[in-house]
Amino acid sequence: MQALAKSRSVSAADASPMLIGGRWIKTGKRRPILNPATEDVIATGLDAGREEVDAAVQAAAKAFPAWAGKTPGERSALLMRWAALLESHAAELAQMESFNTGKPLKLARDGDIPFAIDNLRFFAGACRVIEGGAAGEYSGGYTSLLRREPVGVCALIAPWNYPLMMAVWKLAPVLAAGNTAVIKPSELTPLTTLSAARLALEAGIPEGVLNVLTGAEETGKLLTAHPEVRLVSFTGDTETGKKIMSQASSTVKRVVMELGGKAPFVVYADADLEAAVQGAVVGAFVNCGQDCTAATRFYVEEPLYKRFAEAFVEAAAKVRVGDPSRNSTDMGPLISADQRERVEGFLKRASRAEALLGGKRPKDFKRGYYVEPTILSGAAQDSEIVQKEVFGPVACLLPFKGEESAVQLANDVAYGLAGSVWTRDAAKGIRTANALRFGTVWLNDHLPLVSEMPHGGLKHSGFGKDMSKYAIEECTVVKHVMIETTGMSRKPWHYTVYGAPS
Ligand code: NAD
Repeated sequence: MQALAKSRSVSAADASPMLIGGRWIKTGKRRPILNPATEDVIATGLDAGREEVDAAVQAAAKAFPAWAGKTPGERSALLMRWAALLESHAAELAQMESFNTGKPLKLARDGDIPFAIDNLRFFAGACRVIEGGAAGEYSGGYTSLLRREPVGVCALIAPWNYPLMMAVWKLAPVLAAGNTAVIKPSELTPLTTLSAARLALEAGIPEGVLNVLTGAEETGKLLTAHPEVRLVSFTGDTETGKKIMSQASSTVKRVVMELGGKAPFVVYADADLEAAVQGAVVGAFVNCGQDCTAATRFYVEEPLYKRFAEAFVEAAAKVRVGDPSRNSTDMGPLISADQRERVEGFLKRASRAEALLGGKRPKDFKRGYYVEPTILSGAAQDSEIVQKEVFGPVACLLPFKGEESAVQLANDVAYGLAGSVWTRDAAKGIRTANALRFGTVWLNDHLPLVSEMPHGGLKHSGFGKDMSKYAIEECTVVKHVMIETTGMSRKPWHYTVYGAPS
């Protein structure tokens, strides 16, 4: 791992193998893996085809009965051991994540990796308190039991913005609850997921319980349509989510959809200006704006609008854009040339808005997919830049008058993942939070998440939850076991209702 992270440009000859049934497989079409800060090829990935996908699903299906049959305590011990190994390799994983995504090393080191480990530990503990929920007599002579059981083989599809963290959000509840998994990280960022899988094997997680397939859309299609997969849990773009729902439908799979966002950031005139500005800078530009909960639409109450705009621009101008490996860097590049083209396309089409800051590629950067932190004013509420997810470092400022208008504007998008409200008036803050149609609403902050609480959206941001006990509910099924308790001293129910069969 370290050798990879240290080298500037790795030979493409040695492809990163996939993990199928405890074996490292090197078949499939090759694709270069880049460092978006330098545009260097740092590794070679493989695209799994039909054969590899089928082998991975069969391996997961074979491993399922024994893994589901382990006690929660046994599964928990193995997941805890995996978490300890991830922790002991945290520095290398952070370096690799930064190297492959272009995110500042400090963000990977102090944010993504420790949070992923915490999430894994949470689920390792949570699986020990799963219980069915009821045992009782609801009909004379019968006792009903409720069991909560794993669903089987789960196909997990992850995006590139927080590769290891997203992999753990998907894997931890699924494995803890007794399912087996085939995960497909993004074709752009498979490296930390593969490294983590290696550590899972080292921790003693049995062969076939966790399989990693690499590849892009074609691999994802084969996996999500495979008849033996019982659940598809996806994080990514809304349009991809719609395709996956239809791919999964012919075999009636369960689906969990964590999709795009377009978070509002509502600032009332009585807000703590300094705190709101700090929150705005982090909310808009962390991870180069490539965050599904990133603050993108800044609705500011008119009396404060001008002061907020000036202070936001002044603070955002101090965001240090540059080499992700430097501790002083706050913002790295976008993930790819395609993503930069996409962001620049949005900016070009938003020509009626005024750029108060940024809007271009930074000068003096010869390589890397960099775009400046950008703040726009004057965009119309119904314009593309306000309505659609850009997934880049672009903030739109819009003024509003009064609480009703704040709620109406904030809710006026197809998405519903997250948003925030900034005010010193607790009652108004709670009223606004309650009226916002988003899966998470923060009061006087934007972005923090915890393993114990659910993350997931409404509307076109999807459905289902990652993290928290609710993620366990997504990947388990409630089974009713109804037991005749009279010892057959009387006729079974169908005899009493329909009589004896003639
Ligand atoms: P994407 O949808 O392009 O790709 C996500 C994954 O889906 C990748 O692994 C990709 O290979 C795979 N994929 C693509 N087409 C597929 C298909 N037809 N069938 C199966 N798999 C397929 O998303 P991205 O560009 O990697 O990530 C950015 C998006 O993710 C943004 O829209 C962002 O908002 C969203 N996101 C959402 C959350 C959340 O929790 N709601 C979290 C992070 C990112």
